[in-house]
Amino acid sequence: MMTVQASKNVTDIDEINLDAPIFDSQAFRLNDEQAAIITTSRKLGQNLFAGRAAAYDRDATFPTENYRDLHRAGLLGIAIPKRHGGLGAHYQTYAIAAAEIGRYCGATALTWNMHVCSTLWSGPLADDLEMDAATRAEHERRRAIHYKRIVDDGAIYSQPFSEGGAAAAGGVAFGTEAKPLKGGWLVTGKKIFASLSGHADYYGVLCTEIAEGEKASRRNTLYLAIPAKADGVSVVGDWDPLGMRGTVSRTLLFKNAFVPEDAALMPRGVYFQAAMRWPHMFLTLSPTYVGLAQAAYDFTVRYLRGEVPGTPPVKRRMYPTKQIALAQMHIKLEQVKAIWFQAITEARANPTKEQVLRAYAAQYSAMEGANEIATLAIRTCGGQAMLKSLPLERIYRDSRCGSLMLPWTAELCLDRIGREALYETGESDE
Ligand SMILES: Cc1cc2nc3c(=O)[nH]c(=O)nc-3n(C[C@H](O)[C@H](O)[C@H](O)COP(=O)(O)OP(=O)(O)OC[C@H]3O[C@@H](n4cnc5c(N)ncnc54)[C@H](O)[C@@H]3O)c2cc1C
Repeated sequence: MMTVQASKNVTDIDEINLDAPIFDSQAFRLNDEQAAIITTSRKLGQNLFAGRAAAYDRDATFPTENYRDLHRAGLLGIAIPKRHGGLGAHYQTYAIAAAEIGRYCGATALTWNMHVCSTLWSGPLADDLEMDAATRAEHERRRAIHYKRIVDDGAIYSQPFSEGGAAAAGGVAFGTEAKPLKGGWLVTGKKIFASLSGHADYYGVLCTEIAEGEKASRRNTLYLAIPAKADGVSVVGDWDPLGMRGTVSRTLLFKNAFVPEDAALMPRGVYFQAAMRWPHMFLTLSPTYVGLAQAAYDFTVRYLRGEVPGTPPVKRRMYPTKQIALAQMHIKLEQVKAIWFQAITEARANPTKEQVLRAYAAQYSAMEGANEIATLAIRTCGGQAMLKSLPLERIYRDSRCGSLMLPWTAELCLDRIGREALYETGESDE
């Protein structure tokens, strides 16, 4: 099905002068295996993706070439268990690797997140959830099918769940319906902002299983990998947004698309269980923005030192106002990194209330912090730094999109922190 050809061998890039990691492996106590995976991401990002990012952004086209390189490097299978041919990375390793990619190309990191979550949620995360032995065995058989496609063929998965109503925020059941019939389902519905539309091989759709005459319930959410080429699947609308332009997040329509039982990425009832018991699953949109925050900071240091390629070697670092601005950016970046690292490190099933509140705070800090740092970067570097020939204005536009991502938008994080900190479960003022 998918032919995979890398434009440049991943081993060709071993000799480059790498940027320092966002999270130094010794300081943050990462083991050698984690550090190796994260370094591979950084190498790809710095050497290959950074140079291509401007064109994908300008043309709002999908970073197809980057996906070939991700496949060659084994990174499409980063979270796939080793016994299935993947790299076997867990949540923390994936999150840091994704931040390194986001540092060089936001759209690649954000879309890679949609792909990787198909494997992270069906893999290590599902292993933490309750299933009876028969269900678990069936899940193991099914996920092996998905993992083989990814590892062997470079298949790309996406994760469209937004519908334009309250479902993506977790308020009501998904309006996209899966009608059960012998051997599978007929899926009908619409997904908006479906990143990778027209480019993924499988759309990992969240929908509600609903038989004739039944009422829709969030408990009956299904997570199905619908083949992009299935009858009844179409991509409509254009895509010309402010930022994250390479994500190609157009609208997906499903009209009685038949989906076989093996398309299920999670067994019945398990997505609902995951959303309740593994809330950090929704924090996975944040790594991209931690990377963008680092990128805005890195740019500013180089610019003020007169070291940005393509700009005159004029130093601006001697002005106290520039030094203060950079200090503010540094402090903000360290604050974002600290809370975010703690949150991704403690991500697990059944977190405490304190851990969940911290996860919301980490998401808010990363999403809003990335844009605050990029804003300061533009103000302090000045007019010449925001020209489209340089990456800073793209970083700024991309970073603005983070706090819009459901279900944990910046507004919803504030809403939840305020409410959940003041009320215990079941409490009200009535
Ligand atoms: C670049 C990009 C890529 C994306 N890729 C994907 C993707 O691959 N898959 C996917 O599923 N989605 C994706 N999204 C969609 C994203 O997650 C949101 O669904 C989308 O931005 C919501 O837009 P909306 O205008 O419909 O928001 P609305 O639902 O109208 O919400 C607007 C704002 O109101 C607030 N709000 C919403 N509900 C509540 C509530 N119950 N209580 C209080 N406040 C609330 C939130 O702060 C929200 O930001 C992407 C978005 C962007 C910008």
